[in-house]
Amino acid sequence: MTAKGCSFNGGNCNQVIDPCKGCNRSKEYQSGWYCSAAPDPSVKWKYGNCNLATHTTMTVKQEKAKLNPIKASKRGNK
Ligand code: SF4
Repeated sequence: MTAKGCSFNGGNCNQVIDPCKGCNRSKEYQSGWYCSAAPDPSVKWKYGNCNLATHTTMTVKQEKAKLNPIKASKRGNK
């Protein structure tokens, strides 16, 4: 979605969904709130956090930090 309109699906972008709240890529247009990076935000959240979101970076980092000790303990058992 850009100021000129949407190039997706014949000019119909889908509006942002609840998890997009707080993301810097969501923008308010005359017809509602749209994502400037993804034409259909619900698809971006279908399989977990949106990879383009600007407000979830911390969560992703925390998940990675949690995984590392598990990997480390598995390595230690071998
Ligand atoms: S980048 Fe992702 S989280 Fe942000 S508004 Fe777009 S779809 Fe939503």
